[in-house]
Amino acid sequence: MNFLKDILQQIIPLQKQGESHNFIWQWLGEGIWCFTPKQSYEKSMVISAGIHGNETAPIELLEQIFHDLFNGNLHLKTRLLLVLGNPDAIRNGSRYIENDMNRMFLGKYAQLEKSKETQRAEQLEHLVQQFFEESKPQVQRYHYDLHTAIRSSLLPVFAIFPYQQEAYDEDVLRSLNAADMDALVFHGETGHTFTSFTQRASQVASVTLELGAAKPSGQNDLSQFNAINSVLRALLSDNILPTRTKNTVRKFKVVASILKQDDDFKLNLAEDAPNFSSFEQGQIIAAQRSGNYIAQQDYTCILFPNIHVKKGLRAGLILEEFK
Ligand SMILES: [Zn+2]
Repeated sequence: MNFLKDILQQIIPLQKQGESHNFIWQWLGEGIWCFTPKQSYEKSMVISAGIHGNETAPIELLEQIFHDLFNGNLHLKTRLLLVLGNPDAIRNGSRYIENDMNRMFLGKYAQLEKSKETQRAEQLEHLVQQFFEESKPQVQRYHYDLHTAIRSSLLPVFAIFPYQQEAYDEDVLRSLNAADMDALVFHGETGHTFTSFTQRASQVASVTLELGAAKPSGQNDLSQFNAINSVLRALLSDNILPTRTKNTVRKFKVVASILKQDDDFKLNLAEDAPNFSSFEQGQIIAAQRSGNYIAQQDYTCILFPNIHVKKGLRAGLILEEFK
């Protein structure tokens, strides 16, 4: 059984389901494998990576989990769907081919010109929803979508929660604390990310993880990802979570999205400024003909600043810290 190699070599396995150790496995599509424990289980979990094809470290983490399931080093007590999101971009070593897949979910793909990526987003929505519908109704539902950031970050590892009205799941918060996250970021409105979709469509406790800076395949120091790796494995095997080794996690809410609306759009920070760079009250954060965006309080932070996005798209998120 091969996970990443099948994608890289565009191989469709001859055998599409079987049994191994204590679980039944199914190949559901390119890079989409379902594992169901034979005994009863209390959690159903999607772990995804490679929605951005050049984010190699999380892809390698999933590859290790996949092999440890089949070689018996990881004892599965949770129903699991492993997903490599964008096979074409993974083969190409690029973030995406035509359009960013993590802006396409919750049906947004239908508004874009049809491409392999829009079809893939539609397929992922369908299969993930089906995975949760097939799980027993009383089980807890989780989705961890793994990413690495393009730019450096003052807070290197952080989690982003999609907007939801109900309280955030305590078990997920505990797992992120154990995974040594530096920060948690909470969206204030529904977006079109993969985790927004699972949270909305299947009432899943969903979270997007940014695990540090991306490197080319094979050059990642996976020990940098030990904390999240241990936590995911503990969740899959129903083991005790590791103990946090960092200071208290910091919490931020998204208070605005900066949209690039005009050709003269500028951000008031260096091109390579790190994530969580901050502004003082009254400072201009973004300037463009249609109006400036000004910091409303001290320590207003920016996340994912990017002046190179297409017009009409998000050029950064504005955050305020809360206790
Ligand atoms: Zn990403």
